[in-house]
Amino acid sequence: MAKKHRKTIIDDAVMTDAGLTYNGVALQPVVEKCEGCERVVEHESGKYCTTYAQPELRWHRGVCNFATHVRAELDKGGKVKINPLKASKRAARGR
Ligand code: SF4
Repeated sequence: MAKKHRKTIIDDAVMTDAGLTYNGVALQPVVEKCEGCERVVEHESGKYCTTYAQPELRWHRGVCNFATHVRAELDKGGKVKINPLKASKRAARGR
């Protein structure tokens, strides 16, 4: 059975001279670190995040807090490390 399409902001976004915009806000394409996140949707002009207009900024200070594919964890030395989430863990979280 085909997966039901969930409406996102990308469906209501319009292409302008400034690029794809939603409610007057220009949407930036996702960055490499977003690959694998369930919030990425494809548009004819590229891939966009359904949550953030500027995905790159979400990764400036560590891990994007809405990412569904990775999670930040502290190692024994107190350093932040990025752990990919397994599909089974995502399913258990209801995503
Ligand atoms: S939620 Fe975060 S990781 Fe996922 S696509 Fe958006 S910016 Fe990228």
